[in-house]
Amino acid sequence: MKRRLAILGATGSIGRATLEVVRAKAGDFDVVLLSANRHDAALERLGTEFPRALLALGGEISVSCSPSITHRGHEALLAAIGEAGADITVNGIAGAAGLLPSLAVLRSGSSLALANKETVVMAYPLVKALAEERGVPVIPVDSEHAAVFRLLEAQGREKVREIILTASGGPFRRYSLRRLGKVKVQEALAHPTWNMGPKITVDSATMANKGLEVIEAVRLFDMKPEQVQVVIHPQSVVHSLIRVSDGALYAQLSRPDMRLPIQEALYWPELSPSPFGALDLPGLRLDFEEPDGNRFPMLPLAYEAARLGGLYPCAYNGANEEAVAAFFDGRVGFLDIPRIVRYVLNHDWSGELTLESIAETDRKSRETAASRIGG
Ligand code: NDP
Repeated sequence: MKRRLAILGATGSIGRATLEVVRAKAGDFDVVLLSANRHDAALERLGTEFPRALLALGGEISVSCSPSITHRGHEALLAAIGEAGADITVNGIAGAAGLLPSLAVLRSGSSLALANKETVVMAYPLVKALAEERGVPVIPVDSEHAAVFRLLEAQGREKVREIILTASGGPFRRYSLRRLGKVKVQEALAHPTWNMGPKITVDSATMANKGLEVIEAVRLFDMKPEQVQVVIHPQSVVHSLIRVSDGALYAQLSRPDMRLPIQEALYWPELSPSPFGALDLPGLRLDFEEPDGNRFPMLPLAYEAARLGGLYPCAYNGANEEAVAAFFDGRVGFLDIPRIVRYVLNHDWSGELTLESIAETDRKSRETAASRIGG
């Protein structure tokens, strides 16, 4: 029987990769909901290809009056998630805006294939409680966490001593601090191994992406921050490793192609043959090196936020989103991004984790970052 599939952020990098999986596995999925934010023409085109899908545009401003887009605005997007009746939903929305849709997915009783790492960073304890209450799984799509998820399944969580996340190191792995100070937006958007949306690509260049992933791993897999290590692996073939109690390492390897972890999530707990090719070992070279927290302070800042816990990861994320938006606009330089986040984390973000306090921390951390940018 076909699985009813909803794709949030269908016009983005994760959304497009999900649609490629669906096209390659046409008999297995019935697409019931597609969403975008502002790209209404692209959404309309997808509506023609998948005529049974509800179309929802999250952004409030839209010039299009296409009757096929039946849901417009943030509240309408949340309502569409409830109406779609999906069995599984991929959340590929960028940034903090993905959190409420994730909660709406779980409330609707759909499984959640989660690419939107901000959902975990900001609010995983609430997400986990809701998923347990509704009896639906949260399946990580982020390639590193998808790898750890499968490795933990294979080995058993109780045997795991440490998780090792790999990082490509981004385009500036070898740059000096002086050279990093002069980096332009276009250079930061040229990722050596992964083809992703603009915000996550800049996060990969600053290593904020790996910082968010450290917090994501701590929260998703219930680890202490010191149990989550990061190693630079420029080939992006080993997606992550776990070290078990006798010291042995187990790794997951595949080509750097997001269609693979997306496909895994869509079929979980089963496996389905991949139409996207397999990794060949002969001639493969695998390098590993230490990350440099001095040149890439977003990584140690993320560990600090993870150790402080509670609302600090949410403040880290809000400050970083604001700083990256300012970098895109040319209002700050590349090295200002960690300075702004450092400034925001110096404030007090202690407090209980509730939906209200998360929304307030997200708002205030952006405001605090904006005041530093303005000043
Ligand atoms: P993109 O920027 O490529 O796409 C984002 C998608 O979300 C678009 O469809 C966009 O619509 C939609 N969107 C943006 N803002 C909103 C909003 N406020 N409300 C509703 N929809 C919105 O991002 P990516 O696909 O690169 O990343 C998506 C998420 O997945 C991020 O959390 C990222 O960290 C994570 N991720 C991405 C990976 C990748 O390879 N790209 C790998 C692992 C994780 P529109 O097109 O109309 O603007």
